[in-house]
Amino acid sequence: MAEVEANKHIDVLTNAELKDFSGFIGNFSSVVAEKGGAEHTVDHGVVVLATGGHEYRPDGYLLEENDKVVTQTELEHQLAADGKAPKSIIMVQCAGSRGDDLKYCSKVCCNHAVKNALTIKELNPASQVIVLYRDMRTYGYAEDAYREARLKGVIFIPYELEQKPQISASAKGKKLTVSFFDALLQEDVQMHPDMVALSVGIVPDGTEEMSKLLKAPLTDDRFFLEAHVKLRPVELPVSGVYVCGLAHGPKPVDETIAQAQAAAAKAAIPLVKGAVSIDPIVSVVEQEKCIGCGICASLCPFGSIEMIKVDKKRKAQTIAASCKACGICSSHCPTFAITMGGFTNEQIMDQITAFGNVKAAEPVEA
Ligand SMILES: Cc1cc2nc3c(=O)[nH]c(=O)nc-3n(C[C@H](O)[C@H](O)[C@H](O)COP(=O)(O)OP(=O)(O)OC[C@H]3O[C@@H](n4cnc5c(N)ncnc54)[C@H](O)[C@@H]3O)c2cc1C
Ligand code: SF4
Ligand code: SF4
Ligand code: SF4
Repeated sequence: MAEVEANKHIDVLTNAELKDFSGFIGNFSSVVAEKGGAEHTVDHGVVVLATGGHEYRPDGYLLEENDKVVTQTELEHQLAADGKAPKSIIMVQCAGSRGDDLKYCSKVCCNHAVKNALTIKELNPASQVIVLYRDMRTYGYAEDAYREARLKGVIFIPYELEQKPQISASAKGKKLTVSFFDALLQEDVQMHPDMVALSVGIVPDGTEEMSKLLKAPLTDDRFFLEAHVKLRPVELPVSGVYVCGLAHGPKPVDETIAQAQAAAAKAAIPLVKGAVSIDPIVSVVEQEKCIGCGICASLCPFGSIEMIKVDKKRKAQTIAASCKACGICSSHCPTFAITMGGFTNEQIMDQITAFGNVKAAEPVEA
């Protein structure tokens, strides 16, 4: 960060917010408002979205009601600050995740739980640490930490979504009770730990507002949707806009860094080239037929049609660099002024007529 601050080619605006956004690849313009009210207009060629996310705070686990129920992040801070481990702790995995409130797996919380469990065992090997889980998703090298935790005496007990652990507290909140069904014992179990740590999920920050400004689509879970999961994993469907980190989906920090490097490398390509190649098929407006109604500009999902003045008359014009050839504008133009490159109305009608003629000439089989 110090290097970034010192670099004369980088302007850092902290406590600032994106107010307005327009343009297309190579010609974007953003209005950024600082907290004090000052506004800056920044002209730029590309965008890398890295707006991140934050922990989800589920209801139904006494999280906001009892200070002995904390998230893994809060537990991590407490352990670092106090250097003291609780005598007994129960960790509840997937709290609010995977079919509960959030539909998805947040990928980091199993690692986070194992990491905290190991810290507790290091601070006090006699501490009782129980992890209630649905699947331990400590993938990759984190599997070693999982094995180490088991060797050090951390107890892992599975539960099913239909039989979630129930957390309750005594009237004054001093005594916690965690009830769960132990599938090995085939019994309901009740325990009274000193603390409960919830492995909560991750939700994205402000993607809904940002997606409206940038006209970029989101998944059902409100993360940004990449243009193609395998072929264009760090690009959004809007040309010149790239994504990485939690804005794109939950992931640990090493994966975020790898994805950030990929996004930076991809974003550098049009900047270094200084030009973009236009797709062979883009919309074309025949301005003599255009009556300037603006329907096409209002419907284009990528903001790829601008209304301009030609001889004092309002006319539509395609921004070829960002057109995605979806054809929406063409199919809604009341005067048929828009054709898709290489697919004029006449050509399509000729194809249909030719197809009909061939069909008519063929004997019809019963
Ligand atoms: C609860 C939790 C626990 C985690 N535990 C682990 C773990 O144990 N191990 C691990 O490897 N990873 C863990 N992660 C994941 C790790 O934190 C992320 O992979 C990494 O921080 C993502 O980086 P990012 O830059 O995408 O987002 P962030 O780190 O969230 O940074 C995003 C930044 O963008 C800023 N921002 C947001 N919106 C705007 C806006 N509109 N305008 C300007 N700025 C904006 C935010 O203020 C923030 O500074 C955890 C994440 C969470 C939420
Ligand atoms: S990482 Fe683990 S705790 Fe987090 S949602 Fe996935 S399975 Fe559940
Ligand atoms: S919809 Fe057709 S007529 Fe209306 S502005 Fe667009 S091109 Fe012109
Ligand atoms: S074809 Fe689609 S992306 Fe291109 S200008 Fe028309 S509506 Fe916009």
